[in-house]
Amino acid sequence: MSAIGSLLFCTDCGNLLQNSSADPTNFLFCDVCGARNKDAAPGTVISESKPSAFPSSLRAKRSAVQTLTAEDRKTEAIAQHTCAKCGRKEMYFSAVQLRSADEGSTIFYRCVCGYKETTNN
Ligand SMILES: [Zn+2]
Ligand SMILES: [Zn+2]
Repeated sequence: MSAIGSLLFCTDCGNLLQNSSADPTNFLFCDVCGARNKDAAPGTVISESKPSAFPSSLRAKRSAVQTLTAEDRKTEAIAQHTCAKCGRKEMYFSAVQLRSADEGSTIFYRCVCGYKETTNN
C-alpha cells in the first residue's frame, strides 16, 4: 500500500488521523474532536460523503426532463378515429410538420392498445 492510501481522516471534522495500522478492528481517536473512527481503508470513508452530494443535482436534472416529456404527452389530443387493431373509436393524435408548410402535416394516431397509424394531409 502506498503512503497516501494509508491516510485516514476523521469522519466528523476531517482531521488527518495519526498512527493508522490499517486494521479494521482497531479504532483511532481524533486529536481535534475526539471522535472514534474505524481504522478502515480510506476508500470506505471517502465514498460515504461524496455520492450524496452530486446525485441530488443529477436527480433535479432528471426530474426536469421528466416534466418536459409529461408536457409533451399533454399536447396529444384525442381524435374520433377508429383503431384498425382493437376497434376503439378514440385514438391519441399529434400532428407534425415534416415537410414544407404548403404540403401539409403528418398526423400520428396512437391507440392505447399500442397500434399506430400515420396519415398525411
Ligand atoms: Zn475529528
Ligand atoms: Zn387499438
